[in-house]
Amino acid sequence: METRLPEDFRRSSEGQEAERILRSCVHCGFCTATCPTYGVLGDELDGPRGRIYLIKQMLEQGRAGAQTREHLDRCLLCRSCETTCPSGVEYHRLLEIGRKRLEGLAPLPLQQRLLRGLLLRAVPMRHRIGTLLRLGRWVAPLLPAALRHKLYRPRPGSGFRARPHARRVVLFQGCVEPAALPAAREAALRLLDALGVRGDSLAGEQCCGALEHHLQAEHRARHRARRNLDLWRRALDEGAEAILGLSSACVLEIHEYPDLLRDEPEYLALAQRVLSRVQPFEVWLEGHWPVHWDGIARGRVAWHPPCTLQHGLRAASVVPNLLRRAGFEVLLPADSHLCCGAAGTYSLFQPAMSERLREDKLAALQALEPEVVASANVGCLMHLEPAAAIPVRHWVEVLAEAVPPDRPAP
Ligand code: SF4
Ligand code: SF4
Repeated sequence: METRLPEDFRRSSEGQEAERILRSCVHCGFCTATCPTYGVLGDELDGPRGRIYLIKQMLEQGRAGAQTREHLDRCLLCRSCETTCPSGVEYHRLLEIGRKRLEGLAPLPLQQRLLRGLLLRAVPMRHRIGTLLRLGRWVAPLLPAALRHKLYRPRPGSGFRARPHARRVVLFQGCVEPAALPAAREAALRLLDALGVRGDSLAGEQCCGALEHHLQAEHRARHRARRNLDLWRRALDEGAEAILGLSSACVLEIHEYPDLLRDEPEYLALAQRVLSRVQPFEVWLEGHWPVHWDGIARGRVAWHPPCTLQHGLRAASVVPNLLRRAGFEVLLPADSHLCCGAAGTYSLFQPAMSERLREDKLAALQALEPEVVASANVGCLMHLEPAAAIPVRHWVEVLAEAVPPDRPAP
């Protein structure tokens, strides 16, 4: 695609990146068919090709209005278009650059600015999320049924205590996970224990920074990235084998630290060194899977691959492989490439589209008549669970229940 970006912008690192990405798009439109918002609205400007065109126009002309904001804000950043694109267009980076520029040209409406401010204060703090979820549980009985069914109910852990082990990994927690997924964390610790490995939590660990990164508070996300990298370097130097995450959105954000820290050579080099040891828990587990766990389980599981796992990390087949090896029947819903509508804070800013995508996703999952829906990201689980007619759980809980608790370390 031909571009005519203003000279001063072209000279900046973001300008060069935007120009490279815009030029890599050949305008074929293959991506449009796999875009969830285009699928619902049928408007070219609510698909990737249309959004690329809007960003190009905005960057070239230095102008944008409410219509541009509306179409760009509706993007879920799910990256389904990137999986489809035959030309390797890095759409997510172009959208990030475009959204940054949009801030100055067509500011968010006041109500959404207030919501963003509130989220930036509340969500990256673990204790505040725990308080909010507890508050939700206490007031739930007082709420009308329609609202009550929107509240996520975390599954508590049972107080499992691991045995001491010399081998260890770091089990990253992030900001939402400790309050929202205590049972999943315990399940992961139980599997690690059965494999003779300790799962450590690191004092001083920060939120991965995804929320701040996507809410235009990049400086705060960079600060968290630097703190985490310093901690992980120390942990790896002291013998930790890997840094593992149970939520694909966090792992993807961590894998993007080099982009975030591109103007800080020292931390960029550290990120590139450390990130080869940061993995989704399932990827590590696949490499350490003991043969005697084959065929231990029974049951039908519907698998919902989070966008961050399938389109971001490109590792959606690992969990189904593990569950199948364990003996589960694993079913994939129709249109499994489509987002469930969670997309970080999207459900708060775009509730109608988010709700519609959730309804479609749950209909596709429940049509499989599984005993349980399994997924791998805290956001998807919190979004789907309150509206589902069947249990929605982290895959690691489903798997850990199949492994006998008293099995000695191999
Ligand atoms: S599929 Fe790729 S090259 Fe084709 S229009 Fe979409 S982004 Fe551009
Ligand atoms: S990231 Fe998702 S919602 Fe956004 S344009 Fe691409 S496919 Fe559509």
